[in-house]
Amino acid sequence: MLEFGRANRLGLARMSAARIETVDVILPLAHSEDTALRTQAAARQLGVPVNRIHEIRLRKHSIDARKRDIKIQLRLEVGVDGPLPSEILPRPEYPALKAAARRVIIVGSGPAGFFAALRLIERGLKPIVLERGKDASARRFDLAPLLREGRVIEDSNYCFGEGGAGTFSDGKLYTRATKRGPVAEVYATFVAHGAPVQILVDSHPHIGSNLLPNVVKAMRESILRAGGEVHFGARVAGLVRRGERLLGVTTADGREFLGDATILATGHSARDIYRLLHHEGIRLEQKAFAVGVRIEHPQNFIDSRQYHYPVGQERPHLLPAASYRLATKIKDRGVHSFCMCPGGFIVPAATENDEVVVNGMSLSRRDSPFANSGLVVTVEPEDTAPWQEEHGVLAGIAMQKSLEQAAKLAGGGGQVAPGQRVPDFMAGLVSSTLNATSYFPGLNPARLDKLLPGAITWRMKQGLKLFGQQMPGYVSNEAQLIGCETRTSSPVRIPRDDLSLQHPEVLGLYPCGEGAGFAGGIVSAALDGIRCADAAVDAFKV
Ligand SMILES: Cc1cc2nc3c(=O)[nH]c(=O)nc-3n(C[C@H](O)[C@H](O)[C@H](O)COP(=O)(O)OP(=O)(O)OC[C@H]3O[C@@H](n4cnc5c(N)ncnc54)[C@H](O)[C@@H]3O)c2cc1C
Repeated sequence: MLEFGRANRLGLARMSAARIETVDVILPLAHSEDTALRTQAAARQLGVPVNRIHEIRLRKHSIDARKRDIKIQLRLEVGVDGPLPSEILPRPEYPALKAAARRVIIVGSGPAGFFAALRLIERGLKPIVLERGKDASARRFDLAPLLREGRVIEDSNYCFGEGGAGTFSDGKLYTRATKRGPVAEVYATFVAHGAPVQILVDSHPHIGSNLLPNVVKAMRESILRAGGEVHFGARVAGLVRRGERLLGVTTADGREFLGDATILATGHSARDIYRLLHHEGIRLEQKAFAVGVRIEHPQNFIDSRQYHYPVGQERPHLLPAASYRLATKIKDRGVHSFCMCPGGFIVPAATENDEVVVNGMSLSRRDSPFANSGLVVTVEPEDTAPWQEEHGVLAGIAMQKSLEQAAKLAGGGGQVAPGQRVPDFMAGLVSSTLNATSYFPGLNPARLDKLLPGAITWRMKQGLKLFGQQMPGYVSNEAQLIGCETRTSSPVRIPRDDLSLQHPEVLGLYPCGEGAGFAGGIVSAALDGIRCADAAVDAFKV
């Protein structure tokens, strides 16, 4: 009997049945889209003649730009001696709910809330989603007064409304939370609801704010079609409790919604919810978070640094707007870039009119001439000491709020934000002029170095010095800081039991997603929604 390798070399394997292989190949950037070259590379890798390759299909695409000679890494599925099975794209198919299905209240329609709802439907439970904001189309209209007049509509803005904080975001789906659950299932669910198929293969997938609203609308339609409910303008303002059990919630306009379980997925900006829980005597805990500013550069500068070509040269069309990630530790606190948005926009993410908060988003094309990123410093609970006496466990929120109000004052009105060129931040000067910006409400020169607490400013300066060495030009007059970035994550955790995922003292309450301190982005929030839904279903089986 010939062993397989020898049979292969002798060409005898040709006689065997068609087979499917997976190979990783590396191609130079310029040739990476060429199907013939991909096929040749796959054939070489498999040690078979090219004419035995019937079909190839892209499974993973990533860019290796560590060196000047940029390479593209591809994972290919290969049909040898026969075609690949036809591919079925994910579709939004959910079973219809039975009339007697148990009811689960979900507060919040962000990724945690909507993914929890879809999972409950898959498992035969009826989700009743309560959302304080408007549906994604109406919500979009409320961004105009925010951007043009600086007027915040308190229940409908960049944080509140259908789809949650993720709807008008960059829609970055890259996550390091791969151990937390079925990431591929999350991507497939997005694709089933209209996200580009490309997110299934990109190593750093993103959707973009022009596409996300339709994706979340399609998710809502799946929930409604199956027999679930979604209520907009339903701001939860009270809890219905019997002893240790949560029976449901009441809304600000006096409606009552009762269910067999309540998944609380209200995000990191629902400060009224933390106050409500605190007032009800439900245990909360302080947790670390981060505050700082947005840093904005010309995108072509970031491209030239990351792709190793001179500034001013045009980016090769096969390369997307470049991103970066910078991180260090200065005196026991992290200093790092956060939620970098290549080819993006800085947006006003305030939820009340007495504050200025900045965040970043981008369109699917990522083609704005600006690159922005959070530049933030970790805040540990002990760093909030000045606020603890008055605010107790909510001290982190009080600290965030004080920075947001200071930013409002320094901006000088509406949503105008304080801005400072990076060298002026380092030197402690007001900038005489500011650069062009993607931040639509506009900038006012101000001393961000003074506005932020001294320990944060000092660490940011140390971090910037280092980042300027790692990426020459990062600290330059072309770069400016815009404040304040305070909503990186929740300063509060709503505790839950590791196994049941219910609050240790309130049966039937499932703290979920970013607001509860169990997620830090769209995908991790979606995964946590799925986990909480599964936990609620499992609890009924006991
Ligand atoms: C501008 C911006 C850009 C971002 N970009 C990215 C990105 O590119 N990638 C990424 O991974 N993450 C990004 N994020 C963070 C990401 O959006 C959040 O991590 C994620 O949305 C958290 O999901 P969640 O479901 O836990 O909460 P949220 O998305 O915050 O959803 C909470 C929902 O609850 C609702 N709600 C709050 N209080 C109540 C109440 N009392 N009653 C009823 N409803 C209530 C809110 O209106 C909201 O819709 C961005 C955030 C912002 C603001």
